[in-house]
Amino acid sequence: MAQILEKNKLDEMIARLNGDGCEVFGPRKNDTSSWYGKISRAEEFCFDQILPDRPLKELFFPRTEPMMKYEIKKQQVDAENYVLPKKQRVIFGARPCDAVSLTIDDALFAWDACDEFWFERRENSVIVSIACNKKDDFCMCTSLKSSPDVSTGSDVLLHELVDSAGWRVSAITPAGQDFIDKLGDVFSTTSTDVSVKPPAEVPVKFDLDAVIRKLNSPEIFESDFWKTISVRCVGCGVCTFVCPTCHCFDIQDEGDVYHGVRRKNWDSCSFAMFTRHASGHNPRPDQASRWRQRIMHKFNYYLERFGQISCTGCGRCSRVCPVDMGVTQTLVTLSTNGGK
Ligand code: SF4
Ligand code: SF4
Repeated sequence: MAQILEKNKLDEMIARLNGDGCEVFGPRKNDTSSWYGKISRAEEFCFDQILPDRPLKELFFPRTEPMMKYEIKKQQVDAENYVLPKKQRVIFGARPCDAVSLTIDDALFAWDACDEFWFERRENSVIVSIACNKKDDFCMCTSLKSSPDVSTGSDVLLHELVDSAGWRVSAITPAGQDFIDKLGDVFSTTSTDVSVKPPAEVPVKFDLDAVIRKLNSPEIFESDFWKTISVRCVGCGVCTFVCPTCHCFDIQDEGDVYHGVRRKNWDSCSFAMFTRHASGHNPRPDQASRWRQRIMHKFNYYLERFGQISCTGCGRCSRVCPVDMGVTQTLVTLSTNGGK
């Protein structure tokens, strides 16, 4: 027995969810970009791209957001914390690698201080992912021991039917089952097996265990490899901004001496200013040391601290890099005994 969601039921699904006070988000695009955005009508969804240019993290960790506003008076400082509007959300049509990224960043945002904004949005969101049956040359989830139909991080996983008319629906978590139960007859049930499209065949590009071993070796940190591999990098930071797991941010007070807003803004380890001290000293003075940090952070430090790699294999960093870098080339070289 299988449950089916037909594509011609999407408008009904959106209307029912909106009627219950729940917002719907999903993949959309315009002439210049694609992203996970708010959806009001089914025609706004764009399911035919490999994955949106911009990552799912934007819906949980916006590029910029207020934390509090403050006013400095003669004898006191008044501060008012920003309160997130309470909204239930369904994110429909996430790619499995983007759903995985949320579970990776959960560890970081629960670490030394709990990020309430992140977890409030996590608790209020149901993730409905669609297994990938297409890939491009940049996809590398299988190299990270994941897969195009991995269910980690998803509440519901959809597989597209062979006739493209809809999806087979599988609940992954209790929240996903609740989502299906609430929508009831939006889904149809069939007692016969249904044929779904097979997952995309994503080739394995490197040996992750070899990469991890190499990054654990004592000689790698001071190796000239980092200079050689990053010589093209112009430090634009776009690879970190499109990365679904990169999570660096800066906190800044914007206003004048008497009042203003404290904001949390994305930052990037690729920028020269990221680690520059007030004295002018910069412990990562060049692009090679910044690139080493990016790779070590994702494939060594994060693994050591949280027991997982901070990369989903989405390939976005390689797709967007203006000088044709991204992490893939570095990982392939490390795994084939580069970095000596
Ligand atoms: S996108 Fe490319 S050039 Fe820009 S910081 Fe990343 S690796 Fe360097
Ligand atoms: S490092 Fe690159 S491939 Fe890995 S999750 Fe980030 S953008 Fe995707």
